[in-house]
Amino acid sequence: MTLPTSTSITYKNPELAEADHPGSAVELQYGFGPLPSQLKNKKIFFFDIDNCLYQRLTKIHDLMQVKIHQYFKDHLQLNDDDAHNLHMNYYKTYGLALEGLVRNHQVDALEYNAKVDDSLDLSSVLNYEPELREMLQRIRESGEFDIFWLVTNAYKNHALRVISFLGLGDLFDGLTYCDYSLFPIVCKPMDLFYYKCLGTVNLDKENKEAMALLHFVDDSEINVKAAHKLGFGRVFHYVEIDKEYEALKRKPDFEEFYGKGDNSDKSKISILRNILELESVV
Ligand SMILES: [Mg+2]
Repeated sequence: MTLPTSTSITYKNPELAEADHPGSAVELQYGFGPLPSQLKNKKIFFFDIDNCLYQRLTKIHDLMQVKIHQYFKDHLQLNDDDAHNLHMNYYKTYGLALEGLVRNHQVDALEYNAKVDDSLDLSSVLNYEPELREMLQRIRESGEFDIFWLVTNAYKNHALRVISFLGLGDLFDGLTYCDYSLFPIVCKPMDLFYYKCLGTVNLDKENKEAMALLHFVDDSEINVKAAHKLGFGRVFHYVEIDKEYEALKRKPDFEEFYGKGDNSDKSKISILRNILELESVV
């Protein structure tokens, strides 16, 4: 039996010149995985991408909402209110609006991806982020982690594009994306998605000590709670928006997941109000 081996991925963003800024060319040594067997149970830092490695204030979130809203209207023949409500319902239920569309309306996920994610004018909203780049470089160079791994509910095209615009293309070892070409779609926060991802990075999920070494950062409440429940050692929730932070603190299960909410208990989820705080809490 031959085991699948990873192929490195390089991606040059046609919308950027390589000289524009560092990290514009994406190079993932282990591509979409799997990590080789000699890298079993390593200390891995998982990074979400959208609304995590860039701020929601960038408005990319809004651009995406407009595209998704239009998709709901056009494909399901809904008025604005119904489209909005269903979109929010699917996002909150499944963690990905597309998941609800595929499950309940049999939409073609790759066509959706072309009309929504791949058509976003990222060049007008995403910028090179030198501060974030330097912070991530310092964490990498600290030697604390063996592997930096991206894990996204987006399709691979979008993930690679975003990373290149941010100037982070050379800082990660690999990427697990949501494969829109499969049915049913498997994405965060489904256990199955995390299990697939852990399999890809050669991590034995039954090994509690190995799981305890894992670090995970994401801006989605359901995603961080899922990672925490599965036994990821350190989980960081980036809560950028004040209103959402206040609402989170009022939740009945807040203490169960976040402790006192002051990041003093590392066995609970830590809250970041700015992604640049990450370095001070790892
Ligand atoms: Mg996100």
